[in-house]
Amino acid sequence: MIPFNFVYYRPDSLGAAAEVYEKLRREGVSAVYYAGGSEIITMCRAGAIEPRAVIDIKRIPECMILSPGDRRMTIGSACTLSQIGESRMFPLLALSCGRIADHTNQCRITLGGNLCGSIQYRETSLPLLLSDADISLYGPEGARDVPFHSVFDGYMRLKPGELVVAVHVPVWALTAQCAHMKKTANEKIDYPLVSVAAVWRDGCLRIAFSGVCAFPFRSQAIESVLNDRTMTRGERAQRAACLLPAPVTSDAEGSGEYRLFVFRNTIDEILEGWENGTL
Ligand SMILES: Cc1cc2nc3c(=O)[nH]c(=O)nc-3n(C[C@H](O)[C@H](O)[C@H](O)COP(=O)(O)OP(=O)(O)OC[C@H]3O[C@@H](n4cnc5c(N)ncnc54)[C@H](O)[C@@H]3O)c2cc1C
Repeated sequence: MIPFNFVYYRPDSLGAAAEVYEKLRREGVSAVYYAGGSEIITMCRAGAIEPRAVIDIKRIPECMILSPGDRRMTIGSACTLSQIGESRMFPLLALSCGRIADHTNQCRITLGGNLCGSIQYRETSLPLLLSDADISLYGPEGARDVPFHSVFDGYMRLKPGELVVAVHVPVWALTAQCAHMKKTANEKIDYPLVSVAAVWRDGCLRIAFSGVCAFPFRSQAIESVLNDRTMTRGERAQRAACLLPAPVTSDAEGSGEYRLFVFRNTIDEILEGWENGTL
């Protein structure tokens, strides 16, 4: 049970959503955009947040698009992980979606919710960081279309009242050679110890990680080391572990030392598959 009252809005356009958000802000009413609701409802029940209004974005057509295009594929922020997976249009994102939570929750969790939620893994960001994706945002100040990496540095950097409308993925990324590995401590469906997405573009490896540090990241320093074939696989994995952008996470899932061990082994596995042509 949610132990407080709140007002539910379901706008049918981006303009109406931003307008209601602004109106509530002026009235001093705390509001959140509501997509799958999996995190919002859990946090309301736990007393971690107490929004007095929720603005459901699932009736906004631009947030529900899932369509291929000539130059790029568009994926609306309110598409669920299972819709993205079942569409099979962007294989690397489908692989990431397929390893987040269980099937029942995948039918509810949305792309935008995963990117904007407070759970630190945000695994759907990895394929977007690797594929030169763009993102459309909309808020009280209007619309903007920007490169995904310019507003996502482990967290979505949104302006007040702004919402994620859709992401756009260039066609090259939809057919690029790719790999996805998620290592968990216990069950297959679990938070990651280490989650890795990789894409090959013009013969070079691009790679992004979640679970290792407190936020997901792509590191060009790590990529240059991993693409340097003058070193053995083990040396490259070892060097990569020294180039992490933040301290290694140590929690109930696994100690920092164990995570680093898994990190190095996962990199080794990806490099081996690349070199042997088995990925
Ligand atoms: C059982 C379970 C296992 C999980 N395991 C993993 C895992 O292994 N890896 C992982 O990455 N995640 C995992 N998650 C986290 C899950 O991905 C989040 O619950 C999810 O991110 C929330 O998505 P939602 O659509 O339900 O968002 P909501 O609960 O609707 O919203 C979450 C937050 O995002 C904001 N928001 C939602 N959509 C938008 C938008 N379009 N624009 C701006 N803000 C928006 C909301 O205001 C809210 O602050 C797991 C969740 C569950 C329930």
